[in-house]
Amino acid sequence: MQFTIDQQALTDRFMRYVQIDTQSDPQSTTNPSTEKQKNLSRLLCAELKQMGLEDVTTDDYGYVYATIPSNTDRTDVPVIAFCSHVDTAPDCSGTGVKPILHEPYDGSDIVLPDDSTQVLRLSASPYLKQHIGSGIITASGTTLLGADDKSGVAIIMQAMQTLLTHPAIKHGTIKVVFTPDEEVGRGTEKIDLQKLGADVGYTLDGGEAGTLEDESFSADAAQIIVHGVSVHPGYAKGVLVNAIKVAGAILDALPKTGWSPETTEGREGFVHPVSVQGISEKTTIGFIVRDFTNDGLRAHHERLRALAASVVSQFPGASFDYVEQEQYRNMKSVLDQHPKVKQLAQQAIEKAGLTVTCEPIRGGTDGSRLSFMGLPTLNLFTGMQNIHGKLEWVGVKDMVKAAETIVYLCNLWESEK
Ligand SMILES: [Zn+2]
Repeated sequence: MQFTIDQQALTDRFMRYVQIDTQSDPQSTTNPSTEKQKNLSRLLCAELKQMGLEDVTTDDYGYVYATIPSNTDRTDVPVIAFCSHVDTAPDCSGTGVKPILHEPYDGSDIVLPDDSTQVLRLSASPYLKQHIGSGIITASGTTLLGADDKSGVAIIMQAMQTLLTHPAIKHGTIKVVFTPDEEVGRGTEKIDLQKLGADVGYTLDGGEAGTLEDESFSADAAQIIVHGVSVHPGYAKGVLVNAIKVAGAILDALPKTGWSPETTEGREGFVHPVSVQGISEKTTIGFIVRDFTNDGLRAHHERLRALAASVVSQFPGASFDYVEQEQYRNMKSVLDQHPKVKQLAQQAIEKAGLTVTCEPIRGGTDGSRLSFMGLPTLNLFTGMQNIHGKLEWVGVKDMVKAAETIVYLCNLWESEK
């Protein structure tokens, strides 16, 4: 099987897509959360049609769907979907992104031209070392780059182009789906899995070359609602219990050296207060709770509830409610039932000449939600680095390797007996 990914075309694509502002908005209640995301969706639609994909559509919500029909005589090949998101993170401006190709990158500091305080250094981003002598792309200093996840978008587009121009590469039916609003946790809210019609999926939304992620956090939200005793403060002696102070005591009782995002890594879970809202009568603390197992999640809830009970008991008259809310679940339990999804991805990465690294994501992806919606989906690398900030960058050769991985993967599913 002979093919080469057109590196120049892939780079041009990526540079073109990142210039379109597609920032999503966590405050919005519409779908998509921002209308401007559709500008990229429409462009992708036009390019997919021009490339020759079939059933190319985009809907009111900003999703893009497309198909490459099977070119094999085999009729038992599973339908594979490739997915990435068009939106960029709300954390950092995505307006007026000016991508810069540094080629060849020579290892020296890169001072971004529009803000000289933004300096990309090898010492702070050691992965840059892998890219000395080849090309890397950065923004210009005032915005994020949007490699998260337009590198994924460009990689999928270029891989589809490669399949269509190399008919000797056999594959089953291939589906493409681009989603809005991943960064605000709503990327799969309006996805039409019936319309997509895929058996297995891969998101391209990961980091270093060779990594695949088949495990995400299991995630809940929790609320501790503290009820105080409210009376006129002028006549409150011995009666008033201030819910704001009780909430403060609960926060103060949280461990200082563990059980938090700032003190954990790897496979450790945590609880993390994310909001406090209230008045003397009633104050609500919002938490996120994270672990890789359901038992772990349960243990965190019990511990947090016990901590709250112990603090509240020191304030006679005060009481509290503890409310749990499921957010998403570790996709591994689904993917373990479909081992080929991972096996073939590992083989494809190796065929592309890379070493496979398998990492748990300390977060969620569209893949976690898709897996539980019935589409077993794991996450593949794109090369993106320093995401959601002004020093975001991506190496061109990593994007090329990711596109190669997709092409091999399509063929492996076809040749799998
Ligand atoms: Zn992403």
